[in-house]
Amino acid sequence: DANQLLRYAADRFSMFGEQQGVQLRLEVAENLPPIYVDRDAINQVLDNLLSNAVKYTPEGGSVVLMAQANRHLKRLYISITDTGIGIPKRDLKRIFERFYRVDKARSRGQGGTGLGLAIARELVEAHGAEIDIESEVNQGTTVTFWVPFYRGGTAG
Ligand code: ATP
Ligand code: MG
Repeated sequence: DANQLLRYAADRFSMFGEQQGVQLRLEVAENLPPIYVDRDAINQVLDNLLSNAVKYTPEGGSVVLMAQANRHLKRLYISITDTGIGIPKRDLKRIFERFYRVDKARSRGQGGTGLGLAIARELVEAHGAEIDIESEVNQGTTVTFWVPFYRGGTAG
């Protein structure tokens, strides 16, 4: 149930976001199609991406969690957009590598191991799916990934 998965993910971060002065919004259609995923894995992906979005967005900013069904490709596209510090072009192509972090002076002194995105990519790719990142320095970042629709058989 994609609606439930996304609503719970947003709920897990609304408190954390509020503490950081960052507003989190969920923008999804009410009746998303069922998806065929490892629930724990996709929860981990959402948590990694949402924690980044909140961590790298200054107070007063916002984070939007969106989902859109592509019924032709039978994919649910999920994106997390923030209004944060962004990532320089030269770092973007390496950002999914293990332990890769952009200059830590930028991140409000918040630590991290540089594993969140690498793990997110592995978990998404384990579904035969893809993840992508777009970013503009001082404008914000969008991470998008897709997961497959559930394709019949006994629903469960
Ligand atoms: P960890 O997630 O392991 O605690 P981390 O957040 O540093 O540590 P990743 O999640 O892999 O590691 O992110 C790698 C680097 O990419 C971050 O250190 C940060 O520089 C940059 N980054 C990731 N997401 C964003 C974002 N939404 N906005 C700006 N920079 C980001
Ligand atoms: Mg992280």
